[in-house]
Amino acid sequence: MTGIKSINPYSGKLLAEFQSLTEEDIEKKLSAGSLAFSSWKETDFTKRAELMNNAAVVLKDKREKYAMIISLEMGKVLKESLAEVDKCALVCEYYAENAAEFLQPESINLPDGAKSKVIHQPLGIILAVMPWNFPFWQVFRFAAPTLMAGNVAVLKHASNVPQCSLAIEEVFADAGFPEGAFQSLLIDSEATTKLIEDDRIKAVTLTGSEKAGSSVAAAAGKHIKKSLLELGGSDPFIVLKDADIKKAAKTAVKARMINFGQSCIAAKRFIIEEEVYEEFLAHFVEHFRKLKQGDPMEEASDFACMARPDLAAELYAQIDKSVKAGATLLFGGEQPEEGSSLFHPTILSDIPTSAPAYSEELFGPVATIFKVKNEEDAIALANDSEFGLGASIWSENKEKAEILAGKIESGAVFINAMVASNPHLPFGGVKKSGFGRELGRYGILEFVNSKTVYLG
Ligand code: NDP
Repeated sequence: MTGIKSINPYSGKLLAEFQSLTEEDIEKKLSAGSLAFSSWKETDFTKRAELMNNAAVVLKDKREKYAMIISLEMGKVLKESLAEVDKCALVCEYYAENAAEFLQPESINLPDGAKSKVIHQPLGIILAVMPWNFPFWQVFRFAAPTLMAGNVAVLKHASNVPQCSLAIEEVFADAGFPEGAFQSLLIDSEATTKLIEDDRIKAVTLTGSEKAGSSVAAAAGKHIKKSLLELGGSDPFIVLKDADIKKAAKTAVKARMINFGQSCIAAKRFIIEEEVYEEFLAHFVEHFRKLKQGDPMEEASDFACMARPDLAAELYAQIDKSVKAGATLLFGGEQPEEGSSLFHPTILSDIPTSAPAYSEELFGPVATIFKVKNEEDAIALANDSEFGLGASIWSENKEKAEILAGKIESGAVFINAMVASNPHLPFGGVKKSGFGRELGRYGILEFVNSKTVYLG
């Protein structure tokens, strides 16, 4: 039996340690989940909405407490953690209000005059394997639609955020959800793979790396279970010569640096038309330079540290290899101290295709800048990636931008705005960024049996 450690990445201090669940513990949780499902699936939308709205109230009432846990465990600045908790309340309210309508039976009249309908029914226990970067939001955007659809949930959270995992379980318990409706499982990857085999687990969703996604989806596929994968991204941020350059540059820095760069939809590759390259770069570097590092609990801090020392070391190795391959270091680039999560924001340009910074995801505060001749080259470069999560295009010609948006291989394109998740908008990727959609109506339809009923 191994322990799961909660470590403050900013100070390096051990905050708490938890025992992983035993097989017996897991069995109890699955039984509780099955029992909860048998009654939860029969509840009406009014009751489900009442409890989901309660969850929003719990989040609002205890926002400081939960934000503190997030910042302590994964190092993001407190103001970002507070915003994260608020957004979780919003997604609970959104699905409380809209789930019944989203899952209304749909009538289909056939050409021969026969009638039929499609009803959307819950599946059972859904397993969520979740990451540390938005340790509340990633879970709530899965849990709110999943529970509203009448499913129940078990959560295998990232091993560096066990306190967040337990706190989320507490939110649903305090909101009045029946015992077993939402359970946190403190287990490792191996136990997770085994759990997928269990007949009581009906489907699995994972947000995280390509490696973890491939492994979890393979296990789900082997047992003929549906999976949803929300993986990495290397989102392009395209600035055309007719864009509002100042606004684009300011937003670009925010889009890269939010959550200290540890976001799948962070803008990672800045693709700039040559006529405005120097102007954009000057503003971009200026904004980058202004960002203040400090204690995550301090209001003045724009960023604190990465979530784990190994993530900082890995990111630095990508920079180092890229510079050795010929990339130019425009800003930052210092090596983090061994064993430290502190990291220096970095900007790279002139990146050769052989460099990791060209093809790999840079999951942290490292921006890559590319100069292109024209729009066609911008789109070609944007699509020259194995990822396809989000993209941002900047141009004052919105019609043109919309046409270009259609040419980008991604799950979302934002015009004159940074990519952001929003309860109302479907969210997910193509290519190696994964499959399936979260949020909006699409999100709640992922884990239901859309059953055809033919009325003869
Ligand atoms: P991982 O993908 O390894 O972790 C995400 C979740 O998957 C965690 O709960 C992890 O558990 C679990 N997991 C990992 N491997 C398996 C497996 N074989 N079977 C079952 N569960 C598994 O992310 P890391 O923390 O290692 O971060 C590494 C990289 O992942 C980042 O640099 C980034 O590229 C990407 N990432 C992407 C995110 C996104 O939002 N798309 C979020 C976080 C990371 P455990 O912690 O116990 O290993």
